Amino acid sequence: MPSSLVRGRYVIARVLDRDTAEIIEDGAVLQRDGTIVEVGRFAELSARHPGVEVVGDGRHVVLPGFVNAHHHVGLTPLQLGSPDMPLELWFGTRLAARSVDLRLDTLYSAFEMVESGITTVQHLQGRIPAPVDNIIRGATETLRAYQAIGMRVSYAYMLRDQNRLAYEADEAFLARLPRDLAAQLGPMIASQAIPLEDNFVLFEALREAFRDEPRVGIQLAPANLHWCSDAALERVRQACAQHGVPFHMHLLETQYQKAYAEKRAGIGAVRQLERAGLLGPHCTLGHGVWMSEEDIELVARTGTRVCHNCSSNLRLRSGVAALNAWEKRGVRVAIGIDEAGLNDDRDMLVEMRMVLRQHRVPGMDERDVPTPCQVLRMATEHGAGTTAFGDTIGRLGPGCAADMVLVDWDRLAFPYLDRDVGVVEAVVQRAKAEGVDTVMVQGEVIYAGRRFTRIDKEAALAELAALLARPLTPEEERRREVSRGVLPYLRDFYRDYLPDRPAAPFYVTSARQ
Ligand SMILES: [Zn+2]
Repeated sequence: MPSSLVRGRYVIARVLDRDTAEIIEDGAVLQRDGTIVEVGRFAELSARHPGVEVVGDGRHVVLPGFVNAHHHVGLTPLQLGSPDMPLELWFGTRLAARSVDLRLDTLYSAFEMVESGITTVQHLQGRIPAPVDNIIRGATETLRAYQAIGMRVSYAYMLRDQNRLAYEADEAFLARLPRDLAAQLGPMIASQAIPLEDNFVLFEALREAFRDEPRVGIQLAPANLHWCSDAALERVRQACAQHGVPFHMHLLETQYQKAYAEKRAGIGAVRQLERAGLLGPHCTLGHGVWMSEEDIELVARTGTRVCHNCSSNLRLRSGVAALNAWEKRGVRVAIGIDEAGLNDDRDMLVEMRMVLRQHRVPGMDERDVPTPCQVLRMATEHGAGTTAFGDTIGRLGPGCAADMVLVDWDRLAFPYLDRDVGVVEAVVQRAKAEGVDTVMVQGEVIYAGRRFTRIDKEAALAELAALLARPLTPEEERRREVSRGVLPYLRDFYRDYLPDRPAAPFYVTSARQ
């Protein structure tokens, strides 16, 4: 792969702390074979490297590519007929989702991600029908779609070995249903179940198949505490230690999950993970909305990471995460758009703005609320730390992968922007996807002048539309019926699930800390 010099009016190399970033005016990044060699002034680098292709004409802000640290599917649940509902009921509506071609589905959201500057996605996949060979095929198809567009992907198939319907054993929940409904639902659930050990067969098969692909990393994802038996958690611990890979796990997304953890072991969910030997910098907890103060201390002390899924928490009524308390304790927090953001798409610029704004608690102390630099670091370096690529992405420095996004400065600053507004603040507050001109991954421009360079987006979307224009199959109709039938039983199950006096979420009590 040839060298190139990526030029910007401003190059934001990395965020240094809550208030400062390393920014080079009239800067450039020299990359060779997909790896960054040098970052400096454009005039100096171009003089020393004449003849190297120049990307960008000096009117852009060049940033490290964004990392969407928590992603599941292409077409959004809403598009597929699941309205926003409390998470535990929403799971039931997801049974009705149509079957979508995995390649086209993956491309659909990959287009949205790249268009907003995301170069790396953490894809946590689930719900591919068993047996494991079929899941390997589906995972491979998904990964090949990212390769087709040129994105970097950190992939994990979600491990679930119990409690697939509600926060109790599948047989126990099925026993609550009328016999004919249970008879239909049982096989639907069983069709996704694979033996515990097959999850690791899958993991190793994908690692082997994509061993030589620099833009693909494979890791693990025990899906959530309620979905994993103790035996599964122990196998995850072993596999992480053996292969030196990180893992990503949903945890304490809702108050019901907090109650589940107490019922399961009489102690909180984070303590249970500590007891299982799972906490540490290789562990990322997705959501974490209902962590207690003690949990947050434990997470901070062990260097455990958290992924903040801000829009999702709002849409599924999970709650508001205690981001300001996490930040005060030095927890490294990533950003995940999860199923879809506020605009029902995967726009990292909008999600960053959500994170910046949602936690602006009343008061006058600037240390109590998120800063633009903090949010940018969440979307870059801290997101990177949750993936299989670690510190090789998420910042622009020698030795890092050449993953960059070029945002049009004139567009965000026109017709006027006060000179005292910082570059990071301007980008985080004002940049829109329409201003994302160019995206580079591993030194290759995959999006230029707002066009994908490798793939025909219009043709792919037309193919997707044509496939979904057909009527629902009898199987899809049946799933829809079953999903509707289960909903009242899910409501019943959770009606008295919470303790008599449920704890307030920590963000409420921590506003002044
Ligand atoms: Zn999720």
